[in-house]
This record gives sequence, structure tokens and C-alpha cells, in this order.
Amino acid sequence: MAVDVRAGRDVPERAQRYLREAGANLIDGTERPAVGGGTFEDLDPATEEVLAAVPRSNADDVDAAVQAARRAHQDGRWSSVPPVTRARVLQQVADLIADDADDLAWIDTLDNGKPWSHARAEVLAAANCFRYFAGWVDKTYGETIPSAPNRLVYSLREPVGVCGQIIPWNFPFLMAAWKVAPTLAFGNTLVLKPAEQTPLSALWLFRLLGQVGVPPGVANLVHGVGEEAGAALVAHPGVDAVTFTGSTEVGRLVMRASAEHLHRVTLELGGKTPVVVFDDVDVATVARRAAFACFYNAGQVCTAGTRLVVSQRIHDELIARLKAVAESTVVGPGWHADSRMGPVVSREQYERVAGYVDVAAGEGAELVTGGHRSGGFDVGFFFEPTVFDRVQVGMRIAQEEVFGPVLAVQTFSDEDEGVHVANAVPYGLAASVWTDDVRRAHRVARRLQAGTVWVNTFGDFDAAVSFGGYKRSGFGRELGRHAVETYTQVKHVWVATG
Ligand code: ADP
Repeated sequence: MAVDVRAGRDVPERAQRYLREAGANLIDGTERPAVGGGTFEDLDPATEEVLAAVPRSNADDVDAAVQAARRAHQDGRWSSVPPVTRARVLQQVADLIADDADDLAWIDTLDNGKPWSHARAEVLAAANCFRYFAGWVDKTYGETIPSAPNRLVYSLREPVGVCGQIIPWNFPFLMAAWKVAPTLAFGNTLVLKPAEQTPLSALWLFRLLGQVGVPPGVANLVHGVGEEAGAALVAHPGVDAVTFTGSTEVGRLVMRASAEHLHRVTLELGGKTPVVVFDDVDVATVARRAAFACFYNAGQVCTAGTRLVVSQRIHDELIARLKAVAESTVVGPGWHADSRMGPVVSREQYERVAGYVDVAAGEGAELVTGGHRSGGFDVGFFFEPTVFDRVQVGMRIAQEEVFGPVLAVQTFSDEDEGVHVANAVPYGLAASVWTDDVRRAHRVARRLQAGTVWVNTFGDFDAAVSFGGYKRSGFGRELGRHAVETYTQVKHVWVATG
């Protein structure tokens, strides 16, 4: 008999109340529906029930939001607030997010499907992101540059202006924070469009911004479908910079649209992260960590370690252990305390993952475990942790981003081959290397073509550490001090002194 997925779904009263209101845009300080009254249904991926009807915004809504952000940028209602005050405001946002973490985690769990404890950790990381960027507000300034004796030359770090921001559905609240915190810290205004699969937690953030004194019009929220609201935002002439996180395919469209008005573009796109394992490691530990690397968030992570590139010498032992870990991973709804992996986010995503399982099998990869619907529930987009062995470099399962819990195992006989296999993909977002040989660790870290390399660890993030891609994984950097380049522009002033 099928298990009732709803058991234990005790949504706290405050989160329930919020869910009834969450389907709203927030433009120029006012919560409102889409101009045309259109909505789309947002589903809970574990129960397949409708959580909320959300505004299906069109180009008019996007235009209203961009106009509001433009006015706010031009009259300097945010950028002219004294830095120490702006910093204090962002600190307060961080505190309020942390206070609300339990309820906010429920919203992302319901909307995305992830385990509540994971959602809560991500909300706290979002609070830290605001704390970190609050620190930059009054520490971002220009330089004086020596030139001719009768000239004083100095630089100013100024906001870029109106930022159009588009985020994916895998870390709904955290991705909003990654965009909004630096944008505001450096004095910009913004329009954010969340993913249509997970729109709900964003309004909570925007309400908090209003509560602590971010003026109306500075931060605007527009919901909608990618090809409509998203496309209208990146094509809008009133936008100065576009920061996009999503698929490489849509990244291309965004860049093409941005070319028309020469928007500054930052793209954080797909990945096919290799986890390179040499034969001198503790195999049991690596098996656990490699499973976490691929199956965390049901594999729906742009940095997910979806390729295990392993030395032939420990291949059999590692695969046996990995199989055991995968088969003991508890798949279930986010509100079950023992769930380690939730459903994938939507029916479309479920079908995409199942489609790749067929592709891999058709290409001759060997199914070690998984490949099917999981959990024994009556509804929901649950998929088993899946491992394919004997994957060759040319196979689609080795080259394309699945965005689901599907691991491809590849082997190598020596270091050169390991590096070659690891790098033999179009992507370069992240990589991981496991070895007890410190010389080899640093050598391989240098040779891996990726914006982030983890050595004997995986999945570490910190607001202080910049993040972004090599190759087709995009360009520009978020977080850390490189965010200064993304969200400010430099003006040089020449003064005749004699
Ligand atoms: P994924 O494959 O992870 O769903 P997408 O790249 O499709 O990633 O979506 C990421 C974000 O991009 C979402 O907010 C989505 O609405 C938006 N989006 C999708 N298509 C477009 C488009 N043509 N123009 C602008 N944004 C888009």
C-alpha cells in the first residue's frame, strides 16, 4: 500500500498565513497582482497540490517595476543614504531573516521539496550573505592615482544602476539573497524575477526590506514565466545590468537579448562537476561524500558532483560502497525528519531525469542502482538516487547537465588521464579532487578547469568566497570581493591643480 506523503505536514500557523498572501508582486513598495490579472499555479512537488496562484506578469508589469527602480536610482533615495546607515539596514535584514528561519524553511521546503533542515541551513546562509555584504557598504571606495604634477586624479566606485535579476528554483531564498544583498550593498536598485517553480519565499525577503527602511522602488519583485516576464526583463532598455543564474541554454538567450541594449551581463550557468578520486584515499569516506556531492538537493545543484572520476585501482570498492550509500539514502518529503533527499522540483524535471536514465542505458552505461520512481508514495516527483558505471567521455550522460540525482562514473589509469577526463566537458563551474598526496592535490587543483576547486571536501560555500564559472558555465563572479566588480562601475576624475 502506498505511504501517505502528507503525514507530518504540520505547517506552522504563520507560514500558512503567509502562503495565502505570497502570490503577489511588489512594485514601488506596493504588493499587487499582475496588471492583466493573470496567474499561474505553483505546486508542492511532494504532494502535487497547488500551494498558491502567483502573478503571471507580462511586459507591462516588468515595465512598471523597471520604471520604479529607475526613478529610485535616479533620485538617489538609496545610494545617497549614508553608508553606515545602509550597512545597518542590511544587518537588520540579516537578523530578521535569521529570526524567521524556521518559517522561511517551511516555505522553501513546500515549494521546492527539499528537506526542512537543508532549507533552514540555506536560509541562515542567506542571512550571512546579508551580513557579509553589509560589511562592504562603508568599505567600498576609489583610489587616488599618481599622474602629472599639475593633476589630481581619483576614482569613484559608483553603483551600476538598475539591476535585472533572474534566479532558478534550486535554492529559492538563498539565490534571492545572493542577488539582492550585494546589489543593495553597492547602492543599486533592482527588479528580481524568481523561478516560476519556486516563487513563494521571495516576497518574505522583500517585505523585510521594506520593514527595515529600504525605500519603496529600490527593490522590486516581479513574478512570472521565464519566456514572458524573464524575457521582458532582460530586453528592457531601462535595465543597466542583468545578473542571471540558470541553465546554459537560457543564458545564451539572455545574452542575446542583452546585446540589444548592451546591458552588463553576469551569467552563472550549468555545470558537470567532476569528483576526481585517487587511489590513496579512505574509500568509505569518499563514498559517503561523493554520494552527498551528487544527491544533495536531489542533484538539482549547478555544482552537483555528477561525474565520479575514479582511479581504476579503487573503482570496484568505491562503487560497491557508493551503491550501499545510495540505496540507504532516505528519499521522502521535506517534512519527514529522516528524509535526506526530497522529490525533484516538478513533473517536467522528473521526466527530464527519467529521460536521461533512458539515454544513459541506451548509450551502454551500466546501471548500478536506482533509475526509477522512489519512496512508495501515492504522489510526488520522487526519484531514486541513481548511479551509472562505465560511462565514456563521449556519452551524453557524461557531457550534459541532468539536474537530478544521477551520477556518472568514469575511470582513469594515471593523473594525466584523470585530469583529461575531468576537463573533457563544456562546463567549468566546479571540480573536486580527493587524494592524501599534498603535492598532487595542488597540482591537480591547478590543472582543473573550473571556477571553484574543492580539495578533500565538497560543496563548501561562504559569502566571502567568490563564485562563478569557467568555460560554458558563465562569467562574472558573485559573492566575495569580486562582487564589487559586478555591482559597481568606476569613474575617474581629473582635476587641474595648477
Ligand atoms: P532551469 O533549467 O534550472 O529551470 P532555466 O534557465 O530554465 O533553468 O530557468 C532559470 C530562470 O530563468 C527562471 O527564473 C526562469 O523563469 C528564467 N527564464 C527561463 N527562460 C527565460 C528567458 N527566455 N528569458 C529570461 N529568463 C528566462
